[in-house]
Amino acid sequence: MSQTKILLDESEIPTHWYNIIADMPNPPAPPLGPDGTPIGPEALAAIFPMSLIEQEVSGQRWIAIPEEVRALYQLWRPTPLYRAHRLEAALSTPAKIYYKHEGVSPGGSHKVNTSIAQAYYNAQAGIKRIATETGAGQWGSAMALAGQMFGLEVRVYMVKVSYEQKPYRRSMMQTWGAEICASPSQQTQVGRTALAADPDSPGSLGLAISEAVEEAASRVDTNYALGSVLNHVLLHQTVIGLEAKKQFEKVGEYPDVIFAPCGGGSNFGGAAFPFFADKAAGKEVRLVAVEPTSCPTLTRGIYAYDFGDSAQLTPMLLMYTLGHDFMPPSIHAGGLRYHGDSALVSQLYHEKLLEAVAVPQLATFAAGVQFARAEGIIPAPESSHAIAACIDEALRCKESGEGKTLFINLSGHGHFDMGAYDSYFSGKLEDFEYPAEAIQVALAHIPKVG
Ligand SMILES: *Cc1c(COP(=O)(O)O)cnc(C)c1O
Repeated sequence: MSQTKILLDESEIPTHWYNIIADMPNPPAPPLGPDGTPIGPEALAAIFPMSLIEQEVSGQRWIAIPEEVRALYQLWRPTPLYRAHRLEAALSTPAKIYYKHEGVSPGGSHKVNTSIAQAYYNAQAGIKRIATETGAGQWGSAMALAGQMFGLEVRVYMVKVSYEQKPYRRSMMQTWGAEICASPSQQTQVGRTALAADPDSPGSLGLAISEAVEEAASRVDTNYALGSVLNHVLLHQTVIGLEAKKQFEKVGEYPDVIFAPCGGGSNFGGAAFPFFADKAAGKEVRLVAVEPTSCPTLTRGIYAYDFGDSAQLTPMLLMYTLGHDFMPPSIHAGGLRYHGDSALVSQLYHEKLLEAVAVPQLATFAAGVQFARAEGIIPAPESSHAIAACIDEALRCKESGEGKTLFINLSGHGHFDMGAYDSYFSGKLEDFEYPAEAIQVALAHIPKVG
């Protein structure tokens, strides 16, 4: 029997992150300030260290990973690449399915790849505290862990509905020493205004971002950290795709199609961009971002400048967006409920160099359960989006008799999402189709620029 786990030695942890900007056919569109003109690096200096701002705008192809960051990556990297022998057999497909297991990190998802790097650069810059937000809790946990490793205090604004529904994510963040505030909170002007308007507000990711940014902008000892969307976050995540390329090389394979779940685009960019370098050089490889039908940013949004948060405190980015005040339905893949998307992913998708598909909630849970029963690993509901799209492709291969090589980024495990699995098993989950009306209302609020 051929190998199941394709492993690398710790010495093979990448030494450099890969910056896709060097291989994009067109330069990235610049972020805009409130007056509609491009912002300079100084506009971000109140909330980010200069080293990360430089990475945000760098055109250099390879950026060295600091030794301190690589040393912490050694706690869980390199992550294994698995051949899904049992899933292939269950589907009786001639396709070969591989998945990269990012759920082996201490935080249980890929997000630690960037939180560790961000904490390192902030500590280097003399910053003492990080303010950040979390929706479902994965990013808050990743940042709490990273803060602990580099001696930074971390305050997490956690969307109130998740704060109440996900007590164990809260305990995880507390274990790693973070302070957690339900958002909207009394700590910020934005939060107080939201509570005055609706004391029972369930909160939203856009609002929690506004609270964290407000706090970071108003204190010199405090910076802000974002878990997705920004160029430097996707840059840090490229360790996923760089390792995967070496692992495929070891078994003499190369993927025909790559599937990754897409919320803000960071694990998709991290897994796919290193392969894009080969695509730019003429190699055939399809890169597919998979999103929920309830929050269909790439497949149903518009390509326009928009804010990253509901209070319009962030610069405007040219991206696919459903509108900065779009409130997606409460699906269980909390990490995929963001109105916008990475500007890099958006631009490449707009130029038709990447693909996107949307999958309904029930199909993703069916795929997650099928995967768990074949492979043993229980996937995060976010990751199940990629699994569902890959299973569809594997079944098309069965029809056509093609032995394609398919690659899934398994962005995280689902051990903290068993409540969502329970709802699925008891028939309480529903499909939320494209919420056309809500999106139309939110799209009407997109700023008019350019
Ligand atoms: C946060 C998260 C996602 C989505 O975020 P991206 O920035 O699009 O990667 C996907 N999967 C898991 C497990 C997550 O925690």
